Amino acid sequence: MTALPRVLTIAGSDSGGGAGIQADLKTMLALGAHGMSVLTAVTAQNSVGVQGAWELPVEAVRAQYRSVVDDIGVQAVKTGMLGSSALVTAVAELLSDVAAPVVVDPVSVSKHGDRLLADDALDAVRTRLLPLATVATPNLDEVAQLTGIAVNDESGMRRAAAHLLAYGPRWVLVKGGHLPGEAVDLLTDGSAEHWLRAPRHDNRHTHGTGCTLASAVAVGLARGLPVPDAVREAKDYVTAAIAAGFALGAGIGPVDHGW
Ligand code: PLP
Repeated sequence: MTALPRVLTIAGSDSGGGAGIQADLKTMLALGAHGMSVLTAVTAQNSVGVQGAWELPVEAVRAQYRSVVDDIGVQAVKTGMLGSSALVTAVAELLSDVAAPVVVDPVSVSKHGDRLLADDALDAVRTRLLPLATVATPNLDEVAQLTGIAVNDESGMRRAAAHLLAYGPRWVLVKGGHLPGEAVDLLTDGSAEHWLRAPRHDNRHTHGTGCTLASAVAVGLARGLPVPDAVREAKDYVTAAIAAGFALGAGIGPVDHGW
């Protein structure tokens, strides 16, 4: 008999082990959850960029999901790289009746500027996936793509959050980490507003930050924490993981899950 929270990630593989499914499963392990994975795409990737990406057939994604959910069951789900409009739509269909909180990380571009989501999939993310989200966790590049709002200060973050909430997620976490100064995020459900602040760590080894944060939120929700508590704990976790990020290869190294 195990009391481990069961958490599912639906995301892409990073062969370099820094982001994607690999970061998700490491986060879940570090936080004491049982991690499970539905693989959507395979990337050939390392510290300098993404050298190639291949999507899995929709059928393979559906089959993995059914295997996990019908037998083991899930207490929270996190989505990451979905690649194409067909996969976004298929995942949204699968999640439409899931009885667990869903964290949507609307992954679209890597830190190196490699596209991880087709342009024509943005509409499916807005209209199919965001409405199912308990929490959506876009960074400012993803906010710009999804809303057309170029955020450069905290009032812009507030405007962007309101715009995103109109698509139907219960909560939005707008991650302002790409702005200069403190790492400020805004979590809101349209009435409550939580500003989360952390000191900026002068560390370029931040590969996998977004995946790690969203997975940590999913673990908190699987444990039954309210969204603001799950997000606060996840932010503390990712802040420490960034502080401990380390060099690997010639480029941007990963955040560290073992601190
Ligand atoms: N590769 C995969 C498979 C991902 O899911 C992600 C982000 O979510 C990335 C790469 C990009 O990671 P980062 O922007 O932290 O370098």
